[in-house]
Amino acid sequence: MNKVKCLIIGSGPAGYTAAIYASRANLQPVLIEGPQLGGQLTTTTEVENFPGYPDGVEPFTMMDDMRRQAERFGTTFVSGIVTKVDFSVSPKKVIVEDEQEYEADAVIIATGASAKYLGIESERTYKGRGVSACATCDGFFYRKKTVAVVGGGDTACEEANYLAGLCEKVYMIVRKPYLRASEIMQQRVLNNPKIEVLFEHNTIQLTGEGKVQGADLVYRKGEPDEELRHIDIDGFFLAIGHHPNTELFKDYLHRDAEGYILVEGDSPRTNIPGVFAAGDCADPHYRQAVVAAGSGAKAAIEADKYIKSL
Ligand code: NDP
Repeated sequence: MNKVKCLIIGSGPAGYTAAIYASRANLQPVLIEGPQLGGQLTTTTEVENFPGYPDGVEPFTMMDDMRRQAERFGTTFVSGIVTKVDFSVSPKKVIVEDEQEYEADAVIIATGASAKYLGIESERTYKGRGVSACATCDGFFYRKKTVAVVGGGDTACEEANYLAGLCEKVYMIVRKPYLRASEIMQQRVLNNPKIEVLFEHNTIQLTGEGKVQGADLVYRKGEPDEELRHIDIDGFFLAIGHHPNTELFKDYLHRDAEGYILVEGDSPRTNIPGVFAAGDCADPHYRQAVVAAGSGAKAAIEADKYIKSL
């Protein structure tokens, strides 16, 4: 049994910022790093909108900077995945990898969100054999090939642009007649001669012998001019949003219909005193690294206040 004042779950911008603040407040925090060190940001190519990096920054560099800053003030890092929690007791219990048990006065949840899949059968069949939810991780395997990116948001545009730098051709499969992405990202996509946007298309299934070789699409589904179409592709990249990683806490914390942890107003306080939520696990709206970092700071300040009140 390890007894700590402040335990932080998650190693994205929210978790690391909470750790910087908590360690500077002398809470000697322990941060459980989880399955994806550095969080979702590390699946992107370049961060251009985090203040303080006027020339942009490589995401691993930025996350490593944050980690080192937290380490400098005394954060202890534990690699592993939290498998169980008990928030019905005080101090709160957190179990890592089914064996290491922690008791914490305050817990900051910064578990982020994970990529969504379409839910079609063939997506599972070809997972790891042409289907991916991370262009930065897997794009390299598709050099000079043809790929498709599903989605019309900022992530999809970013992935399509990145893949266009490697691939022969990139299709974007967009279900609406327009892109939802920010203006600058839309322009980059629409001005890229390697990217062809297929508006009003939905994917029915993926095809291929042992790996993805094509996709069957439907154009203007349910309309009088509905049409079946086929594209030849080697890779199929999902970029249709995320769902929050909060299942573990469902017996204790109030969540919305999509699973985002509900917090009190614009504070990081959950329905359980001493348990705080920061970053994308509690943010269905903004989902930005800088916003997550800000909420991590708030969570640590609140945790400090809570611990001092005990
Ligand atoms: P979004 O929710 O913004 O976009 C998801 C896209 O996927 C939409 O075009 C949506 O279509 C489409 N989609 C959802 N479900 C399906 C489905 N079942 N079939 C087909 N298409 C589907 O998610 P993002 O991940 O792109 O962005 C999340 C947030 O992160 C946003 O706030 C975004 O601005 C931000 N972000 C910012 C970046 C930056 O500033 N550099 C980079 C990446 C993300 P529809 O429009 O029809 O709903």
